[in-house]
Amino acid sequence: MLFSRRTSNKIKERLLGCLIGGAIGDSIGGYFEGNYSNQYHEGFRWTLSDDTQLTLATCEAIYNTKKVSAEQVAKSFLKWFNERRLTGLGSSTLKALRELQVGGHWALVGRSGEYGAGNGAAMRIAPLAFKSSVSRLDVQDISIITHKNDEAYIGALCIYKSLVRCLNDEFITSQSLIKPLIEELPDTRIRDRLIELEKRNDLDIEECGKLFPPSGYVVDSVPFSIFCAEKIVTRSFRDIIISQIKVGGDTDTVCSMTGQIIGTAFGVEKFDEEWVDKAKNLNLYPTMENLVSKWKY
Ligand SMILES: [Mg+2]
Repeated sequence: MLFSRRTSNKIKERLLGCLIGGAIGDSIGGYFEGNYSNQYHEGFRWTLSDDTQLTLATCEAIYNTKKVSAEQVAKSFLKWFNERRLTGLGSSTLKALRELQVGGHWALVGRSGEYGAGNGAAMRIAPLAFKSSVSRLDVQDISIITHKNDEAYIGALCIYKSLVRCLNDEFITSQSLIKPLIEELPDTRIRDRLIELEKRNDLDIEECGKLFPPSGYVVDSVPFSIFCAEKIVTRSFRDIIISQIKVGGDTDTVCSMTGQIIGTAFGVEKFDEEWVDKAKNLNLYPTMENLVSKWKY
């Protein structure tokens, strides 16, 4: 198997890159979200939200039970929720957690219908890419805990597949994420959007954001995050994040997913040192480091 030959250090280094990249995006994107003067500046307090918290709750469930189980991940979400460790929750996730709290089954509490097409499943799916033998069905089960919607699941699948590609160094060699996704995905609105973005891959981030504003709708946010991550070939991580803030929309989640992808491809090497230092001062950093140190692929 391809990954069995990798040192576990490499997997850990990339997982830490993914989590730190996600946390940087969550913190910076969260601070500037809805701030329409949207000029990046330093000197604000970094805080994390549900994007990072639910990703870590997923890591914890996988680590503690040594498997990818939706039942266990749902239990972990509920534990974090009951301990009041989740902030900035989207409406679908909140609905699911409240129903889990009164004994609802993980497969039944997620929101269905059009309002279930948020990006709340995609933003927290990352840990699955760092486990062997994960199937599409696992990605789907973990998604539907909060979002029982096909586009939300396909959004999560896009992030999962992009991260696997990055971990496998296929992004470094091919410099593409969108093209292989188009070939592998079923016909969905997300795939349609990816096809549009692939045709316009000469656009810069701000032009693309004007054409396809990244809202909380998974079709708007996931393909855009991947489009932005691909720009790391020619632009700095800092430039990418600052452009995403200028574009606006659901910036904490968009910046977080882009950060996860770039961190999985390169570890922390593409991140500004001062941003990495800020991330290391976040309250959840010790949790992150602890989970990574014990992680088994
Ligand atoms: Mg958030």
